[in-house]
Amino acid sequence: MTVPQSFEVRLERARMLSPSVRELVFSRLDGNPLNFVPGQWVNLMLPHEGGELKRAYSIASAPRGESSFEIAVTRVAGGPGSEHLHRLVAGSRIRAVGPSGLFTREAGDRSPALFVGTGTGVTPLRSMIEAALAAGSDAPLWLLFGVRHEAEILYREELERWTAEHPNVRVFVTLSRPTDGWAGRTGYVQVHLPMVWAELARPDAHVYVCGLERMVKAVRDLCRKDLGIDRKHVHQERYD
Ligand SMILES: Cc1cc2nc3c(=O)[nH]c(=O)nc-3n(C[C@H](O)[C@H](O)[C@H](O)COP(=O)(O)OP(=O)(O)OC[C@H]3O[C@@H](n4cnc5c(N)ncnc54)[C@H](O)[C@@H]3O)c2cc1C
Repeated sequence: MTVPQSFEVRLERARMLSPSVRELVFSRLDGNPLNFVPGQWVNLMLPHEGGELKRAYSIASAPRGESSFEIAVTRVAGGPGSEHLHRLVAGSRIRAVGPSGLFTREAGDRSPALFVGTGTGVTPLRSMIEAALAAGSDAPLWLLFGVRHEAEILYREELERWTAEHPNVRVFVTLSRPTDGWAGRTGYVQVHLPMVWAELARPDAHVYVCGLERMVKAVRDLCRKDLGIDRKHVHQERYD
């Protein structure tokens, strides 16, 4: 397991992934690679009212032995950390501490996986899937991804490419507030989980769930109580 370090990072570039989510690509100023296990996060130290705020962000990219890494930040109205990161201009420098976290899946892990994420909770799952594919995994890598609106489907093209190119990848998107014209799944991820689990039909699969507390708790309870999944196979990360 990696040991957290403190290091300076520079914002290389940023783009909006959806109306409320900004992707930020940082690189370490010391040029050292950021070594981490997919699923881990970094703390960013953000200036605020003469002091400093500490906010955790999952690493959205896979470990590639490079000094750069990506995060994706949901803008929370009135939230000092996320608003700061939505305003941050390229070239800005901040301090980071990490990587940290036990919500991990090694790139070489060959066990089947069902990933469940909502909003930016998909980012550590993206890192896990990208790393597994880069390691040549042919284990089932299924993602159940929930957002409110169609415009909030993060990494949509990439997810479509993965499913087209890798038969072991399947992606199930569900919208909790669909508008007319959406013909896909609707409602919370919890509604679809039993069907997706049954279709996967791999009792040995591990479930990785990430997002806000309410969803994580609901999914965890469903997995353990209704679906009878071994608690050691249910991994979770909560953002609040
Ligand atoms: C391990 C870990 C990893 C995290 N990774 C990410 C990440 O990859 N991307 C990300 O956007 N946030 C992530 N968060 C949340 C992040 O650390 C901050 O809490 C968030 O950016 C809000 O900070 P703030 O200062 O803007 O608002 P605050 O005033 O500190 O928080 C206000 C409220 O915002 C809500 N909130 C927090 N995160 C989110 C979110 N992602 N979407 C919607 N509402 C939220 C919570 O209910 C919180 O109580 C992570 C948190 C943890 C603990």
